[in-house]
Amino acid sequence: LRANMSVIQRETGFVNGVIAVLHDITEQEKLEEERREFVSNVSHELRTPLTTMRSYLEALSDGAMKDENLGPRFLGVTRNETERMIRLVNDLLQLSRMDSRNYQLNKNWVDFVKFLNHIIDRFEMTKERHVTFKREFPNKEIFVEVDEDKLTQVIDNIISNALKYSPEGGRITYRIKELDGKIEISISDQGIGIPKENLEKVFERFYRVDRARTRQLGGTGLGLAIAKEMIGAHGGDIWAESKEGKGTTILFTLPYDPEQEDDWL
Ligand code: ADP
Repeated sequence: LRANMSVIQRETGFVNGVIAVLHDITEQEKLEEERREFVSNVSHELRTPLTTMRSYLEALSDGAMKDENLGPRFLGVTRNETERMIRLVNDLLQLSRMDSRNYQLNKNWVDFVKFLNHIIDRFEMTKERHVTFKREFPNKEIFVEVDEDKLTQVIDNIISNALKYSPEGGRITYRIKELDGKIEISISDQGIGIPKENLEKVFERFYRVDRARTRQLGGTGLGLAIAKEMIGAHGGDIWAESKEGKGTTILFTLPYDPEQEDDWL
């Protein structure tokens, strides 16, 4: 509800009355406003790499191409920007697919402990930074019904962020906890953290705590928004906890029924 108030006042200063006009901002208008903001964000996100590329290409054709050092360096910049735009457009397509009603999950029963171990192993093999991994998992199988591709994407994004923001020599801790009717998965880093007032906002499309820095790190600002949609589609929740300067924990839940396994065996 939006209210416009006008006070009717006489020259003497006495108030005669008040007119209040109440506008009902309907759901429709709110959606329309969100859509406009989204389109404006997308345009901005695409314009930045495009203008960067234009200046580098101009410099190349103005002679930098003949320079042994500058040539390859400038081409490298344009390639990085192109790759980031491709990631951005892929993320956008993914979100738009999820926004459409006929979006479907392709679910299978998987042992989540094994599934998560596989993903972490892959990062452990390829990580370039000196960061150690610690796993605190229950010593048993935990069968949940999930879309493995979608969840792999969610977890990849969370781990990539944890690595990106980790200090050299930091530790990333992975936990799976069995709760009532669900499991809770958490991924904790010892990085820069997220200010308290931004903890919910990081799940919004295009929201970044520090625009310039995260752009440099190659992010699209859509990873956690996609994660939120996907975890929601699985019937779970996702949220962040953090102490600035100490680290960040991303947690999510998935429905889990220990009895279900017995029915299957
Ligand atoms: P991006 O592509 O920018 O990483 P995300 O949606 O994955 O987009 O994350 C949104 C923002 O949340 C990031 O730009 C960053 O500011 C913040 N963030 C996410 N994970 C972490 C983390 N582990 N530590 C600190 N900040 C984080």
